Amino acid sequence: MTITGECFCGKITYRVKDGLRDARSCHCSRCRKAFSSQASAYAEVTPGSFTWLSGQDLLTSFVGTHGFGLQFCSCCGSTLCGIFQGDVHGVTLGCVNGDPEIEIGRHIFVGSKAAWEVIPDGVPQFDEGPP
Ligand SMILES: [Zn+2]
Ligand SMILES: [Zn+2]
Repeated sequence: MTITGECFCGKITYRVKDGLRDARSCHCSRCRKAFSSQASAYAEVTPGSFTWLSGQDLLTSFVGTHGFGLQFCSCCGSTLCGIFQGDVHGVTLGCVNGDPEIEIGRHIFVGSKAAWEVIPDGVPQFDEGPP
């Protein structure tokens, strides 16, 4: 299925051809800061299936160690995608339009979740990364 997404201000839009995979939520302290939220909500794209449709010139990147980074809208601040060594690796589920027909399949790094967060039951939880 084809998925589209956009940032809060709508200037940056994208399309993913082959659907999303491995949706997960990471509760580590780094993801909390990067997503300004209780956790990340993120899914991977198939390599080569991602295309920017508009606003690519507004993207700002933050690349951390190991070559993994995030890309933001410099106008509204939405976090749109994760990049690895310059290529789009996955998308933030919050910026996906409509129903991508995938649900978060695991909560990871639950051992370092925020003291104030309550995680709903029903989805596998891991204290650190998945086994
Ligand atoms: Zn924006
Ligand atoms: Zn994390």
